[in-house]
Amino acid sequence: MGSTDTEHRDPDCVFCKIVAGEIPSERVHEDERVIAFADLHPQAPVHVLVVPREHRRDVTELAADPALLAHTVQVAAQVAGARADGDFRLVFNTGESAGQTVFHVHAHVLAGGKLAEGEL
Ligand code: AMP
Ligand code: ZN
Repeated sequence: MGSTDTEHRDPDCVFCKIVAGEIPSERVHEDERVIAFADLHPQAPVHVLVVPREHRRDVTELAADPALLAHTVQVAAQVAGARADGDFRLVFNTGESAGQTVFHVHAHVLAGGKLAEGEL
């Protein structure tokens, strides 16, 4: 855990703790910029969260780094290709009234079956 980037970390953030390995997760991808792990409460046959390692509140803050936003989308596509047929829905809940509950940006990758409307 010594390699954690403490500069971009929020000590109270559950996803920062998952990035640091302090809370267990079922990781399906990791690289130097993002990790991806299974959602605890899956809403689709494949439901994976792609999470930048750096703490940023939401997708509007992530968009300040277009390369990181693009990488997040590319990893989402890779996950959907590896774990389903490659088709996927990508959801960034942004703000409390839009359903965001964890304020560390994460892309929901939903795949692996016909997806119902209005689930997230
Ligand atoms: P959101 O409501 O868009 O902020 O999404 C937060 C997501 O994180 C929800 O789908 C939760 O099921 C998921 N989640 C919360 N805690 C964990 C955890 N420890 N491991 C995996 N997924 C989690
Ligand atoms: Zn965080």
